[in-house]
Amino acid sequence: MLKNDRLDQWDRENFFHPSTHLAQFARGEAPNRIVTGGHGCHIEDRDGKRLLDGFAGLYCVNVGYGRPEIAEAIATQAKELAYYHAYVGHGTEASITLSKMVLDRAPDHMSKVYFGLSGSDANETNIKLVWYYNNILGRPEKKKIISRWRGYHGSGLMTGSLTGLELFHKKFDLPLAQVLHTEAPYFYRRPDPAMDEAAFVAHCVSELEALIDREGADTIAAFIGEPVLGTGGIVPPPAGYWDAIQEVLAKHDILLIADEVVTGFGRLGSMMGSTHYGLKPDLITIAKGLTSAYAPLSGSIVSDKMWKVLEQGTDENGPIGHGWTYSAHPVGAAAGVANLQLIDDLNLVQNAGEVGAYLNAAMTDALAGHAHVGEVRGEGLLCAVELVKGREGPAFFDPADKVGAKVAGALMERGVIGRAMPQGDILGFAPPFCLTRAEADEIAGKTAQAVAEVLG
Ligand code: PLP
Repeated sequence: MLKNDRLDQWDRENFFHPSTHLAQFARGEAPNRIVTGGHGCHIEDRDGKRLLDGFAGLYCVNVGYGRPEIAEAIATQAKELAYYHAYVGHGTEASITLSKMVLDRAPDHMSKVYFGLSGSDANETNIKLVWYYNNILGRPEKKKIISRWRGYHGSGLMTGSLTGLELFHKKFDLPLAQVLHTEAPYFYRRPDPAMDEAAFVAHCVSELEALIDREGADTIAAFIGEPVLGTGGIVPPPAGYWDAIQEVLAKHDILLIADEVVTGFGRLGSMMGSTHYGLKPDLITIAKGLTSAYAPLSGSIVSDKMWKVLEQGTDENGPIGHGWTYSAHPVGAAAGVANLQLIDDLNLVQNAGEVGAYLNAAMTDALAGHAHVGEVRGEGLLCAVELVKGREGPAFFDPADKVGAKVAGALMERGVIGRAMPQGDILGFAPPFCLTRAEADEIAGKTAQAVAEVLG
């Protein structure tokens, strides 16, 4: 390993880091971290610092770091056959086995899975499939996609448009015209504090109905949503939200895309978020937890209803004009097979549910009484702490004060990684599924210390 100062120089001179303040980083004003290893719920950096990763990378290393079972499956596949494409009917044992394992874990009405590389490209695939579907059905004008403010669906041209966060639009000429945004199901930030959950759900429904009315249902193809809002603030939906939204979509013949990049394969303590909340999607996006990020792999799971139309489309038009060189990459697929097997063998979905409930309770005990904590919320192994200036109202801090980032920094000093979510002073947690109760206590206890250090 090169000395840190040399790597540090190369890093600042050559490496374009995603989601980074480029100018500050290049000038050496923003810190870097060179990560060298990981085991269980911990990572280590080049300086010998060991950190409890309360965000599992980017909520993706679900089985935890350093799993030899997955590393060996990757190595074996790379030695036997590192690559062959999946075009015109080609496959490998790994890609075919994984497609069966994915469908076995998906809701019953799902039919096939297309493999990509990232959550972003899987959502790009989904939107193309939706457009193709409506063209085959002879409805060329039914193309607009509804997403929610604070939804996160990627950072490509279409997926960055679907994402409902300002940072991902500003100066990029996004969102594209075919994308519409509606109310986020964010009860804590509801427009009128007098609303109870039922009234707020009715408000979300009437906002959606009004948007559909304004645009015309015959122009709207699909609605995309994460079962639990993730990057937009880790916000579980209010009770009854998904049933009410699905009723509106069914009435207007609008497809539902469930973006399960975060919730798929166990994070909520259920195998899929769709089954957790009773969603009946037409497409499901999967990524992160499919391989626990041991290799890049994503997927678009297609329902029976859509699949029939896709088959009709190829009978009429020839082979589907969609595919990536690396679709169903054998190394990624081998990682996926080993990962899903390990999740079953170690009973990790159940652990995510149980330790997730424990973490949420511990965080609530440690912080709910604090004058600057507006809400502690979560579902399964997702947890968020919303920091506020005052609980009345509530009143929020000026974003320029970067309170969330300061608390995340103070937490990091104590050896725990929590994520300052990009919009609002919200500290997010999504640890690996192998988290223990002792580690959950450490996260909650040190978060309380960090909040006290920054906010008193
Ligand atoms: N969808 C959701 C719900 C996500 O959380 C993310 C990434 O965080 C994406 C899509 C995009 O995935 P990727 O970063 O792999 O492109």
